[in-house]
Amino acid sequence: MGLLLLRYGEIGLKGKNRAYFYRKLRRNVRKCLKANSIDGKVWQEEQRLYLETEQVEEAVAAVQRVFGIVSLSPVRVVAADMDAITEESLALARHMELDSNRTFKVRVRRADKTFPLISPEIERRIGETIAESTGARPDLSKAAQVTVGIEIRPGQAMIFGERIPGPGGLPLGSQGRVVSLLSSGIDSPVASWLMMKRGCSVIPVHFSTSPAQTRQVESLVETLNQHAYGWQLKPIILSHQEVLGPTLERLRAFRGERWTCLFCKRVMLSKAAEIADEMGANALVTGDSLGQVASQTLSNLEVISFGIQKPIMRPLIGLDKTEIMDLARRIGTYEPSIKDAHTCPFLPDRPLTQSSVAKLRALLAQMDGAQAPSEALELEMPRRALRDA
Ligand code: ATP
Ligand code: MG
Repeated sequence: MGLLLLRYGEIGLKGKNRAYFYRKLRRNVRKCLKANSIDGKVWQEEQRLYLETEQVEEAVAAVQRVFGIVSLSPVRVVAADMDAITEESLALARHMELDSNRTFKVRVRRADKTFPLISPEIERRIGETIAESTGARPDLSKAAQVTVGIEIRPGQAMIFGERIPGPGGLPLGSQGRVVSLLSSGIDSPVASWLMMKRGCSVIPVHFSTSPAQTRQVESLVETLNQHAYGWQLKPIILSHQEVLGPTLERLRAFRGERWTCLFCKRVMLSKAAEIADEMGANALVTGDSLGQVASQTLSNLEVISFGIQKPIMRPLIGLDKTEIMDLARRIGTYEPSIKDAHTCPFLPDRPLTQSSVAKLRALLAQMDGAQAPSEALELEMPRRALRDA
């Protein structure tokens, strides 16, 4: 049997709600094991989570994707006895290939206060043995290349070296629901993942222009689901043409074609807000990053968001494209995102790059005020309002 020590970060600080977060985390780790056909036992003891399994390698690969886990380590268990601890620590140091080119330190946590030696003394003795046998240099600072961790508990000691990073964040499902606007591109899957990382149950909505684009989005959702233990993503796919059609017609009637991209985003957000109401979600999510493309300038983001009835989360707003791409590679969505570039069939000749809420209001007032598009064409208002748009 192998044993894994799972560390969590922030949720240990959650005061009275701590039990709730712990419960979710344990449940999600168990769901992760089940989804990956791994047999294992999960339990909690003194601010730590443990996982016992015979499939250690598979468990490491899967559990490192569970949100809320900050890092994990395979541990070796020996009797709480100085000789046994020293022997196993040395074996671990060799396994981690410590030699004269590398630095290390020993960190002891003594949960059993009746153990005859105090922590600094255990650290000193074991450190000396490892240094003598491997030639590695002790370094007590943060810069040490390897840390040998030892936890002494009643009757047994746990020894670990490798720390495999997890995603951190909060347990999935601990923060309520969001509707995420998922395109087939690179950015929005990363935005969804970041919201999942902060504990949100994500409902993906996609406006599709072709079966190929739908398939690409489905494969992105499948990849995201490999991180989704505690809430499966089920995409809602709508026809982009159907949702946008009436607005396009109306824009044409008012000679507002240059506004197409901005109205397209507004229509998608309005539709997503409707879905959010139906599904009990509190916010919308997009993959916008400030200034990345013309529709993502600050003034255009204001226009796009104006009047939308739900808060809009934009977790990528401060990230550079390279940072977003790095994240996409790490979570596995990069490849499915670049499979096909789906060009937008609604793109107008000269899309507006700078608009304003004042101009939007004027245009909306005309569109609302006119009895019918044909009548509106007779008015001189549209030309005036759009002249400097
Ligand atoms: P992405 O890489 O996510 O496609 P992008 O940089 O190409 O983003 P835009 O095409 O301007 O930017 O889209 C901005 C955001 O609007 C997207 O991140 C996504 O949240 C949403 N969005 C765009 N197109 C669609 C679509 N067809 N279906 C659902 N959401 C969409
Ligand atoms: Mg896009």
